[in-house]
Amino acid sequence: MIEDSQQSRTKLSELGEFGLIDLLTKNLDSKLPSTIKGIGDDAAVLNFEGKQTILTTDLLVEGVHFDLAYMPLRHLGYKAVMVNLSDVYAMNGVATQITVGIACSNRFPVEALEELYSGIELAAKLYDIDVVGGDTTSSTKGLLISITAIGVADKEDVVYRNGAKPNDLLVVTGDLGAAYMGLQILEREKEVFKVNPNSQPDLDAYTYLIERQLKPEARKDISGLLKSLEVKPTSMIDISDGLSSEIMHLCKNSKTGVNLFEDKIPLDPTVISVCEEFEIDSTTIALSGGEDYELLFTVSQTDFEKIKANPNFSIIGHMTEENEGMHLITRDNTKIPLIAKGWNAMEKDAED
Ligand SMILES: [Mg+2]
Repeated sequence: MIEDSQQSRTKLSELGEFGLIDLLTKNLDSKLPSTIKGIGDDAAVLNFEGKQTILTTDLLVEGVHFDLAYMPLRHLGYKAVMVNLSDVYAMNGVATQITVGIACSNRFPVEALEELYSGIELAAKLYDIDVVGGDTTSSTKGLLISITAIGVADKEDVVYRNGAKPNDLLVVTGDLGAAYMGLQILEREKEVFKVNPNSQPDLDAYTYLIERQLKPEARKDISGLLKSLEVKPTSMIDISDGLSSEIMHLCKNSKTGVNLFEDKIPLDPTVISVCEEFEIDSTTIALSGGEDYELLFTVSQTDFEKIKANPNFSIIGHMTEENEGMHLITRDNTKIPLIAKGWNAMEKDAED
């Protein structure tokens, strides 16, 4: 479906490991004052001047986390960075550096890795981070990409999952479910393409959904926005697996219950219409879809006035005492237990 734009195909073995690393990292100059030494020595050296260091890592595996039939390599590089930065932002930190590990089989030419790196480079530029190291090696099958992100925060600014209190408001940024429906569209088009390779999909109506799947943006802006509103969340997490399982993480870690209101869950109009087209319930998609990379957090009731009118935030519920349990209040005012059904579980159900 995605056209193969590679004009030339240089074998990885032609360059050798060091030649390849030189080629891939030639545009990656460090720019942050906290990067004392970036690429080019045995290890990077960083200096955060007494701030706390945030460190997170994620591994993406071809065939498990992405499908190159519709995932352009440039987008994959970009997304792999976003997935990690999102976790730094979920600690209320500022992302500063990443390292990149890649393993790929010899079916990938040098030009393919350059594509992948162009996405990483773009993410680094737009999100103001330095790429300070990495490793490239061969795999017997497929492509693996592992990124480690580093960030900083003042000690008093770090937000954990365990600080929510009963009566705190539950807030989410952006809207939910679009990345999952984008994937459904791409999967459907892939099947059409298999049957008729000459088909030209018209995906205009689905642009937002496909972008949310192929080119997600981590919420770099939220930490600063909350600071300017003088709001410090009591707990926070990013939404990678779906709203319900992330809410349950906050509840379990904070030892609270929750009431989540179905009619408050933010959905883009295209998510609603595409869910109708696929005959899937849009609430289920928001609860279980995943890969939205929005932030979910709790704030004290006293902060209500500061956030209620902000278009970046939706107040979707409130925390309760732990013994009250975790519930979804449906549109018809029925209280049902919240169940965690992440992305993988949903895929599995679909196959059953
Ligand atoms: Mg996370």
